[in-house]
Amino acid sequence: MSSSSPRNGELEKRRQASLSVQCLRPTRTIDPVLYLPASQTNRHRLINWRLHWLPGYYPWKDCRCGARAVTRDHYSLVCPLLRPLWQELTDAYGTAPSVPSGMHTIDVILNKIPRTDVVLSNGRWPTIWPAILSILREIERLCHPEDHLLDGEFPGDDISLPLPSEHD
Ligand SMILES: [Zn+2]
Repeated sequence: MSSSSPRNGELEKRRQASLSVQCLRPTRTIDPVLYLPASQTNRHRLINWRLHWLPGYYPWKDCRCGARAVTRDHYSLVCPLLRPLWQELTDAYGTAPSVPSGMHTIDVILNKIPRTDVVLSNGRWPTIWPAILSILREIERLCHPEDHLLDGEFPGDDISLPLPSEHD
């Protein structure tokens, strides 16, 4: 489809008007976080992250590390409690990705996530994908009371990544 189509123009308008849309892939496509293998709880976190509802905004939440009224920028390299998981993700990814202004490392990596679970099962992705899910879970834990964690609330919740042979 031509880049000058009305629908692409609408996307560009939305990107200019919304920070959460700016952080998504620049082309019109279904975000793979909506369908790649993940438990319902992790899907909930992925969507909340994409909508900028995790860690949540107004009123800004405090972090368990002691930082007050934190934004998502705190959950990059700032929060000392998140550093071990960042190290895991960086090791899995192979390098710290270049992050444009206004973006977050998690969004940069999510925008590179394969669009099929077959490709997701190759290369570094079987390690990167769970590392991202772990970071989002920890961000939820750090900015909420312990009892807020949703793990196990949905029937059949399982964070394991299915093997391609299990996919039909
Ligand atoms: Zn913190």
